[in-house]
Amino acid sequence: MSYKILDGKVTSNTIKEELRVKVDEITAKGLRPPHLSAILVGNNPASEAYMKNKVKSCNQVGFTSDLIRRDNDITQEELIALVLQLNNDEKVDGFIVQLPLPDHIDDTEVLLAIEPKKDVDGFHPYNFGCMAQGLDSFLPATPYGILLLLERYEIETSGKNVVVIGRSNIVGTPISILLSRKEKLGNATVTLAHSRTKNLKALTTQADILISALGKPFFVTADMVKEGAVVIDVGINRIDDLSRKSGTRLVGDVDFEKVALKSSFITPVPGGVGPMTVASLILNTLKAYKAKL
Ligand code: NAD
Repeated sequence: MSYKILDGKVTSNTIKEELRVKVDEITAKGLRPPHLSAILVGNNPASEAYMKNKVKSCNQVGFTSDLIRRDNDITQEELIALVLQLNNDEKVDGFIVQLPLPDHIDDTEVLLAIEPKKDVDGFHPYNFGCMAQGLDSFLPATPYGILLLLERYEIETSGKNVVVIGRSNIVGTPISILLSRKEKLGNATVTLAHSRTKNLKALTTQADILISALGKPFFVTADMVKEGAVVIDVGINRIDDLSRKSGTRLVGDVDFEKVALKSSFITPVPGGVGPMTVASLILNTLKAYKAKL
């Protein structure tokens, strides 16, 4: 089967160009541009790379941004104090706390401290609850990015069987809720599979749309995929590759080469869901800015 790539890089660049026009209109009126702040604790190489992309994307669309770095030994109290400071900073429209945080920090406590109106990652339970009930909210950035990709490639979701692998609060669970809601990009029949799911293959081979978000390289093999399925690979896994200068490369959860041949559409890794997550974050920040106006 000939397949089409769901190109997150191209799609996110298109979205960012559209956003650039909107930001230029704002600044032409003499208003300040939107501002995104990001807190980065420690020096996890993957987090550093994500942050670099986020800051670069802010520059591309004409936002201002700042990266607030803290050492790994920051205490929970100090981190929460920093979050409260950003909550109260008029110049900051939205901010994110890059995960993962060090083990001694309780992620939930930190996320709960974020003002929901500035929670542009959409992780706060207030935003999650609004999302689940179809109320206006910041959608979590990765699921939002997946919806935008489906929308831009005009992939029908209504009445389709969707299987999501992985039930995290930031990807699997919210995308399963969003796609099952009575919305244009929803109305699907969604199965949420996880580590205790029995006979996963029996489920995935029924999926018109298969979304993998578990974080295991080459987990989704061709025999698990229905002919003509749309395959969305959220996983980001670093594996050894001695042919590369760095000795490693990034792969998703899907055995891309073989699965692609059975798919109608498929996301690559890198260049699929990752860039869409960043575009969604920028969209959420513009939304936060406009709400303040
Ligand atoms: P997680 O790491 O918190 O949880 C993994 C999930 O996979 C769990 O719900 C678990 O039940 C499920 N799982 C584990 N083994 C399984 C198995 N054998 N069968 C079925 N389910 C199984 O999830 P996460 O934070 O959503 O991250 C998942 C992957 O997505 C990671 O590779 C992460 O790096 C990546 N990610 C990518 C983006 C992006 O923008 N592209 C954003 C967030 C996460």
